[in-house]
Amino acid sequence: MFFLACVMVHMTVVNCSSFCFILTGLLCRRKGRTPRRPKKPSNIEKDPVGVYCRIRPLGGEDEECCVEMISSSTIQLHAPDGLKANRNGEYKETQYCFKKVFGIKTTQIELFEDVAKPLIEDLIHCKNGLLFTYGVTGSGKTYTMTGSPGEGGLLPRSLDMLFNSIGPFQAKRFVFKPDEKNGIEVQNQVDALLERQKRDNQQSVPRTPSSRQRADPEFADMINPDQACKFEGVDEDCCYSVFVSYIEIYNNYIYDLLEDAPFDPVRPKPPQSKILREDQNHNMYVAGCTEVEVKSTEEAFEVFWKGQKKRRIANTELNRESSRSHSVFTVKLAQAPLDADGDHILQDKSQVNVSQLCLVDLAGSERTSRTRAEGSRLREAGNINQSLMTLRTCMEVLRENQMCGTNRMVPYRDSKVTHLFKNYFDGEGKVRMVVCVNPKAEDYEETLLVMRFAEMTQEVEVARPVDRPICGLTPGRRQRNQAFKDELSRRLEERGGPVNGDPIQLNQLIESLPPLPPCELSDPSDDQTLPRLMEVLERRYRIRQKMTEQFNQTANNMKYTLQQFESQFSSKENVLHDQRSKLGEKDKVIANQRTEIERLEKKSKTLEYKIDILQKTTEMYEQDKRSLQQELEGREQRLQKELAERRRMEQRMQGMVTDTKLKWERECERRVNAKQLELQNKLWVKDEKLKQLKAIVTENGGASGGPAEPPRKPERPSRERDRNIVEKRSASPTPLSTVPPVHPMHRRSHSAGGEKWVDHKPASNLDLDTVMQPIIPNAIKVSTPNEKALSKCHKYVLRHQELASDGEIETKLIKGNVFKTRGGGQAVEFTDIETLKQEDPTAPSRKRRSGSREGPAQTDDIENRPPVANISSSHGYQKRRRP
Ligand code: ADP
Ligand code: MG
Repeated sequence: MFFLACVMVHMTVVNCSSFCFILTGLLCRRKGRTPRRPKKPSNIEKDPVGVYCRIRPLGGEDEECCVEMISSSTIQLHAPDGLKANRNGEYKETQYCFKKVFGIKTTQIELFEDVAKPLIEDLIHCKNGLLFTYGVTGSGKTYTMTGSPGEGGLLPRSLDMLFNSIGPFQAKRFVFKPDEKNGIEVQNQVDALLERQKRDNQQSVPRTPSSRQRADPEFADMINPDQACKFEGVDEDCCYSVFVSYIEIYNNYIYDLLEDAPFDPVRPKPPQSKILREDQNHNMYVAGCTEVEVKSTEEAFEVFWKGQKKRRIANTELNRESSRSHSVFTVKLAQAPLDADGDHILQDKSQVNVSQLCLVDLAGSERTSRTRAEGSRLREAGNINQSLMTLRTCMEVLRENQMCGTNRMVPYRDSKVTHLFKNYFDGEGKVRMVVCVNPKAEDYEETLLVMRFAEMTQEVEVARPVDRPICGLTPGRRQRNQAFKDELSRRLEERGGPVNGDPIQLNQLIESLPPLPPCELSDPSDDQTLPRLMEVLERRYRIRQKMTEQFNQTANNMKYTLQQFESQFSSKENVLHDQRSKLGEKDKVIANQRTEIERLEKKSKTLEYKIDILQKTTEMYEQDKRSLQQELEGREQRLQKELAERRRMEQRMQGMVTDTKLKWERECERRVNAKQLELQNKLWVKDEKLKQLKAIVTENGGASGGPAEPPRKPERPSRERDRNIVEKRSASPTPLSTVPPVHPMHRRSHSAGGEKWVDHKPASNLDLDTVMQPIIPNAIKVSTPNEKALSKCHKYVLRHQELASDGEIETKLIKGNVFKTRGGGQAVEFTDIETLKQEDPTAPSRKRRSGSREGPAQTDDIENRPPVANISSSHGYQKRRRP
């Protein structure tokens, strides 16, 4: 009783376009044009229109084939021979790519699995879909969409899959009801029941064929139970209902093929066209179009077939070209969740979802000239061509807008076909197109145009439908309710089942009453039978009255108890109602929180993904850094090495420079001194000659005249210079006089030759038995110099020995010239020092020095020593050593 009080709730269709665009759409609407929508946020996911290609087999085997399938996604078009000859081989072979190509051997089920199955799954998941066939007349559009007996096409297979999936979860008829405004309402159980009864009364035989056997034999083979397909992901806690509508668009007019118009055989009325309207969610729909609720594949296909028949009749009657009309079969699926008990549909209009799949068999895409139409049919055909042309234009503009970021107006309103499907391209949904190709030569040029359209359509993108929020009630409600019902009936059976109308109990009651006497009347004057019967009946009447009284009493008691129960129940009900409303609120909160959680989860996933990317980038950078650091270290090491090498080089070079400099300095000095000596000698020789000449002249003069002036003693200016140089060069004090002995009279010329030496060898000197001994012939050997020896000689040499720092004995030969002094004595002027080094023969045998110690450093050591005596020159001393 409680549910009777429920008010009928109007359910608005939850549609695919988002609410936020409604206001903007209204504001910028213009007459006759699709409202410009504001640019959607760029994060909306989009999918390109899925374009498939199906090649039908050739009619005859000897026909020329112009289309070749070269891979599972590519076909190649060859120009027919005739055309090639006409155009002088101008035609090239062209290739076209598709999402998938289906060759001539493709079966209907294979095509269905790839193309339509995902659309049915989407439909069940509340997402819209649009599937259309496009191609030249005779290319197999109708074969692909509808199929032929035994070879059901996409449409019957889609219906079959849908009903196989939602079959047991369908709502009872009339629970969902179209509201004439493209929406679907939910009726309460009673109203739905009443409508069902009304319908049953109108039809003596139930319309729905309960089994496949009852289907119309004309199309029974279309649905093959062996190839039944089912989607397992159906939400069992929802109730579903399917509505189908079928329209035809001919000459840019829309006709309802399911309309039950009263047929007037005398004056048959032409069918009335329908108009397009926009619902509150900006979806286009055919106003007043019949929507039939169907409960099985057979029923749905029967409805389709009825429309198909009507279409054929109309075409014949009105002499229309059937290939020139577009047919649109729409499957609408309404679904609403079960309430918390899992028994009835939730009476919450926000929870009703409606999704639809449009299956469109477009008119042949060939040009009018090919159909050889005339007059009004030519005009009509032009209109039909116009609608396909608009479809092409819309695709072009859409593609341009999406690819170039332009905002050009898409001319959806220019034709009924495009206007009807505008929301698929502007809003969201999945769009798929099967391009049908007949490979025969005559269709070649038209096929080329079809291919170009297909190629362009593939680049158009459609927003991917978003998942609907889940209702928030605990899942598994339907199953739990069923389990509860099963348990209830089991327990009732255990208790003996329901009592009402049990014939055994009724018999027992009758048997407990007094039995009726035999009441056959044989005689009219029988006065015994009737009084006996009256008596028994009176007894029975009394018993009955007593029983009635007892029953009334019990009933009153029962009534009282029931009233008590009812008051308790109503109070409980109130409490329950409160609890339910609280629960509803809680459910809403939970639902909100679930959506929030979902949003956060999505966000966290994106963030995780971002983190992942960042981590990878960091790793990459770190690796780069490491390798760069390694490279840097390597380079630094190399640099250090090179620096050290350079320093060593510098040092070596400096040493060499110093050596060379010193050597050259000494060499220069030596040469200067030698030159000086040579010049002095020359000067002295000249002086001598001059003196002798003077003496001769004086002698001669003295003999002839008075006493002459004594000759002036020749000066030795260069000596003075030499002395200065020596003073400058040596800082050590000179043991011999700083004033050189000047005895020009006693000087001997160096050039005289045959020099005699005083060889002064102190007694302390060691005898060195070496080959490098200085051997001086004609020398007077002395251990201490004496006047006598000196007066006999011109040269003097002193052998001075000392122990060098390295342990060797150093012998210095100090050479000099002997002069006669003015006082008649002798003086020595030292001119040269020669140094000889050798191992001390008296010292214990030592290891011979390594070659390295004989290097320049040692030479330095010797050569840097200051001169020992006041010699005028210290150049030319040699270093001799044992070999
Ligand atoms: P359209 O609807 O494009 O004008 P139809 O679907 O009516 O073309 O096909 C024309 C004929 O070609 C039909 O007799 C149909 O059975 C046949 N046909 C089309 N496609 C195929 C196919 N893939 N396999 C076998 N027959 C086909
Ligand atoms: Mg057709």
